[in-house]
Amino acid sequence: MGPQVPLLGLECLRCGALHDDQRLFEGCPACRERGVSVNLSVKLDYAALRALTPEDIPRSPRSLWRFRALLPPLSAEPVTLGEGGTPLLHLERLGRQLGLSRLYGKDESRNPTWSYKDRLCSLAVTHARALGARVITISSTGNHGAATAAFAARAGLPCVAFTLASVPETMKILMQAYGAAVVACDTSEARWALMREGIERFGWYPTSGYVVPPIGSPPFGIEGYKTIAYEIAEDLGWTAPDVVIVPSSYSDGVAGIWKGFRELQALGWTKSVPRMVAAEPHGPLANALTKGLEIPEVVSGGPSVAFSIASPYGTYQGLAALRSSGGLAERITDESTLEAQRVLARDEGIFVEPSASAALGALLQLAGRQAIEPDALVVVMLTSGGLKDPGATHAWLPAVPRASGTFDDVLRTIRGSYGLDLGG
Ligand SMILES: [Zn+2]
Repeated sequence: MGPQVPLLGLECLRCGALHDDQRLFEGCPACRERGVSVNLSVKLDYAALRALTPEDIPRSPRSLWRFRALLPPLSAEPVTLGEGGTPLLHLERLGRQLGLSRLYGKDESRNPTWSYKDRLCSLAVTHARALGARVITISSTGNHGAATAAFAARAGLPCVAFTLASVPETMKILMQAYGAAVVACDTSEARWALMREGIERFGWYPTSGYVVPPIGSPPFGIEGYKTIAYEIAEDLGWTAPDVVIVPSSYSDGVAGIWKGFRELQALGWTKSVPRMVAAEPHGPLANALTKGLEIPEVVSGGPSVAFSIASPYGTYQGLAALRSSGGLAERITDESTLEAQRVLARDEGIFVEPSASAALGALLQLAGRQAIEPDALVVVMLTSGGLKDPGATHAWLPAVPRASGTFDDVLRTIRGSYGLDLGG
């Protein structure tokens, strides 16, 4: 193994206090005392890596662990399923329709449990193992829970997943299939309270947050998302995009990807950093930016096709990333989200669930208002696969017609059901 960046501690994103205790899962204690919920972030000593160049990054293993030099040092072997290394796809046809010649999608549905949460869970469960944790726990509406369950299984550790009774069957099946003990609660707040008890009484290791108001997931897991920035920059010849759009609820992805791009710039591997854009159904970050709030306030919630990211809460870490990158938050409608899902599948051959098409949904809205420069290099994060929530897609598809009569009759049926005129 080559050089690795030294760990300095956990740093508060707001007051800058540095902490040695790696089990601080509830954010900065000093800020909490003042009534502010703020996540901590792993602070690494990049000055020690000044001699490192992109050529020093090995081609193997074929997972995010090839970037181990830039990840926090952990005293355990990586818990890995080959996560990361996902393709950056040029969305040429969609880009033409939107007047954007440099539109790309980072297809995170190629991860082991078909979502980008695998990156977070690989780091988090490896950290859990380094700390000697004996049980992994999570509060999740699906993707995060499935990833946690899979990586806990890979580590040979039991997993307790608190979910909501309302989440689709597919998500519950996934979590249970990987061996997690899945328990359904009526509200998010109820599951966070149960999770806290397991952590406080038995030392369970959380892969998600559980404090109210939310701060995001524990810091070591978020480090996994930095590798998205590394891979994007590498695929673009060590260039940063102009804009990166991420589906967001508690903004682990926004914060982690932003951190990765800032590191690359600090290392001198890229010249610039992108503007970060959060795609959110209920708009807590958009509300905080409009009102100039230091901390996002709770906004009104309600159902959304992008249920995994439909939170009325925003986090400090998300707001900080948007502000320091000069980015913005876009409140997305169900119509834009489903339209994005449809065009991604039909015009580009990429099927993602609504919570993942939300990033393109935000771009459809922004492009409609001419809020994106035509020559901007834009990356939309396609965070999870379409089979996670087939019900949402089924709702806008026509019923499959019966093939009956002659071949010419069937051609007429195809025209009637699908609007596809093939002659006859
Ligand atoms: Zn603080």
